[in-house]
Amino acid sequence: MPTKMPALFLGHGSPMNAIEDNAWRRSWLALGERLPRPRAIVCISAHWETKGIAVTAAARPDMIYDFYGFPQALFDVRYPAPGDPALARRIAQLLAPAPVELDLVRGFDHGAWSVLVAMYPKADIPVVQLSMPLNLTPEAHYELAKRLAPLREEGVLILGSGNLVHNLRYWRSHEPQMAASWTRFNDAVKRHIAAGNHAAVAAYTKLDAEALLSVPSPEHYLPLLYVLAVQGADETVEIFNDTDGGAIFMTSVQIG
Ligand code: ZN
Repeated sequence: MPTKMPALFLGHGSPMNAIEDNAWRRSWLALGERLPRPRAIVCISAHWETKGIAVTAAARPDMIYDFYGFPQALFDVRYPAPGDPALARRIAQLLAPAPVELDLVRGFDHGAWSVLVAMYPKADIPVVQLSMPLNLTPEAHYELAKRLAPLREEGVLILGSGNLVHNLRYWRSHEPQMAASWTRFNDAVKRHIAAGNHAAVAAYTKLDAEALLSVPSPEHYLPLLYVLAVQGADETVEIFNDTDGGAIFMTSVQIG
């Protein structure tokens, strides 16, 4: 039996973290060295939302450069990890009866490769991406994600990639009131994660009157719910990289 794998939510922030040396990138590198080696990785990225549910099923997924205005060096990054069509089918089986599309064309988006290039630079562990269906409530995402839990016993690392606070509109804002609002929201979510109160984390719009200043759109927040959903009873939870990040918080969570 493979070791039960931890599950991880990583704040990914700017795509530049893929190539810039900083504390976040170094923490991803350290995780790759410290965690038990996964047989495969399933990544739920903020950057892949679809009408239904889809999984990447190509044997050799391509790269997606889903950003603009960054230096050429970022467009030169390659992450040639293999896909895992058998794992894609296994995910479809776990999520049944919800229909799951096996996507033979979709490659890796930067939510996945910007962290994986630091965690597993050899790109020798198969990676599958699972999309987040649009128009589900956060609670429904959480319920859906629970069905992925058995994968952890099969040597699969469940990796959510997003950001707990993500408001690009106010990216350059240095208003103390705004910063206080983001910090308050981040602190509230952290408190509920530590207490195992996942219902409160899912109902994030009710956590704070200004929650929408921290999560103006749900896509960067939701991957967190996919990771909390696979937490077993009495499993440890560790919160890290939770330094004040301005309009983007890098707060990250390890389960198990
Ligand atoms: Zn992002």
